[in-house]
Amino acid sequence: MLRRILKAQNLMDCACRKLGRQLNIMEVCGTHTVSIFRNGIRPTLPKSLKLLSGPGCPVCVTDQGYIDVTVELAKRDDVILATYGDMIRVPGKSGSLEQLNRSNVKVVMSSDEALNLARENKDKTVVFVAVGFETTTPATAVAVGQAADENLENFTVLSGHKLVIPAMKALLTDKNNKIDAFLCPGHVSVIIGSDAYKTVLDDFDVPCVVAGFEPMQVIEGIGEICRQIYKDDIKVESIYHAAVKPEGNPTAQKIIDQYFEAFDGPWRGLGNIPGGTLRLKEEYAQFDAFKRFGIDQVPTEELNGCKCGEVLCGLIDPPQCPKFENTCTPDTPIGPCMVSSEGACSAWYKYGRRR
Ligand code: SF4
Repeated sequence: MLRRILKAQNLMDCACRKLGRQLNIMEVCGTHTVSIFRNGIRPTLPKSLKLLSGPGCPVCVTDQGYIDVTVELAKRDDVILATYGDMIRVPGKSGSLEQLNRSNVKVVMSSDEALNLARENKDKTVVFVAVGFETTTPATAVAVGQAADENLENFTVLSGHKLVIPAMKALLTDKNNKIDAFLCPGHVSVIIGSDAYKTVLDDFDVPCVVAGFEPMQVIEGIGEICRQIYKDDIKVESIYHAAVKPEGNPTAQKIIDQYFEAFDGPWRGLGNIPGGTLRLKEEYAQFDAFKRFGIDQVPTEELNGCKCGEVLCGLIDPPQCPKFENTCTPDTPIGPCMVSSEGACSAWYKYGRRR
């Protein structure tokens, strides 16, 4: 193992020397961010190699307007709001779901639990707060299919599902960003496959390397990026062979395509990303909570001076936000990046304050 670490570190040194400036690598996935901090990887990297935490935490990238919609829906007596746990602590303009403290807000672990709520409460409309990337979307799609089969008219989905590739392209299109390479997400890549990143490579010619979450896998992923830069061998590479195939999971992709379509929906900090958000197809409109309740999706400014948007784009590190550690802590979060266990602000607070 030591030999592998030394080899990766040597490649990092070579790439940094060759570039002659700071090398910026974005880890797209929140799970990578946590692994990097928890395992103390950052302090072992060359000083001129900077890791940027990207838009890979589903709760964090969910637009402020979407959060506000969930709070407004939860105020309705005819609604049961079924949501994953982290979402209830994200502040909206009139407080968080947790602060609302209503019994019709139910924390669920899966879309299946939300379906059960609909079956058991036919006099209410269940709104499933569906956030996440390609990893969680198939389960939402299956739930919609199940609701259609059962003619479960009181089940709806508030789709905030997102697609990773459009976000990576949006980041590279923005000239403010100085991203040299991507450490691509592991879980998402299981679904979309490593070949999916070829379109990023074709358009922007940056290294895209898929790695697992163990510390050695992360270090070797960064090492492979550096090898590509040092050797002028820029390409898509996966070193997560145990889980990621070039073609991904066609069954999961098919079910996403059956129920959802991409549109230019809002992301926190990134605005409307072309083709970056998923909504239910017209034939499943009866299960679309946005349509059922006549809600438009528009990008909304962040609240209370929170800089999550800049953090998610890799433009600042969390300690550069004036509220970090002062008024914003995991116990008193101002933005989602401090709420979510996969958020960059939370990771910096827990593990990374010394660097
Ligand atoms: Fe937002 Fe808090 Fe992070 Fe600042 S420290 S960007 S206020 S979540």
